[in-house]
Amino acid sequence: MTDSAEKLIKAARQLIETDKMLGGDFIPASRNPLPACEVFSEKNHGQTRVHLEMTPKQKAAALEELKQNEIQRCKKCPLAETRTNVVFGEGSPSAELVFVGEAPGADEDATGRPFVGRAGELLTNMIKAMGLTRDDVFICNILKCRPPGNRNPAPEEIQCCWNYLVRQLEIISPKVIVTLGNPATQNLLNTRTGITKLRGTWQELPDFSEALEGTPVMPTFHPAYLLRQYTPEHRKKVWSDLQKVMAKLGLKK
Ligand code: URA
Repeated sequence: MTDSAEKLIKAARQLIETDKMLGGDFIPASRNPLPACEVFSEKNHGQTRVHLEMTPKQKAAALEELKQNEIQRCKKCPLAETRTNVVFGEGSPSAELVFVGEAPGADEDATGRPFVGRAGELLTNMIKAMGLTRDDVFICNILKCRPPGNRNPAPEEIQCCWNYLVRQLEIISPKVIVTLGNPATQNLLNTRTGITKLRGTWQELPDFSEALEGTPVMPTFHPAYLLRQYTPEHRKKVWSDLQKVMAKLGLKK
């Protein structure tokens, strides 16, 4: 086991003891709270993967802390000056399924909520078609602030925001991630291969986070692209991608 894994386990054990002492539900007010629950490790591709199991209540509290104390106040890049609202993301803090998009658009910037414009409506319908609601899943973006004029996210902006996404995913610890479109897919999978080639094929998160490494990822077309290319062929492809996700999660077709 690596030094950092051992340190994590030690810190988590200490928290378990603190938790017992305080009678449960204790979450330290640290920058990156460690969960005070079960810790176990498993071998994955010959590597030890450390799981820090948090209760749904602890996940909700950790996400809220990240939102209020860091992301809402973020001024790391110039988008802080042009945004109306930070778009943290929304849904279940314990979601088994997380959708990751690119960046907020005008509607999202105005409301502070992800995927609420036309593309959002389509995403909501895709989620409904899976037999789920937006409250069952978690929806977020690579960038938390709108790039003016809906231009593509700049690499420096993605870099500034990256750690926020990683920590959201670490807290939620989903079973499956669906990446919507090229920026989400290429950044999360650390690849230059495009969405047309990758969509519909199971991928795994690389090793930028010990806790997330190996998480199954299903890349699919971004709903905004689908709206522009609303052909039966494209719709069929996205539905087939989502059906693979449903099968992985044991959802009824
Ligand atoms: N497109 C995105 O990628 N994210 C949103 O939240 C809305 C539109």
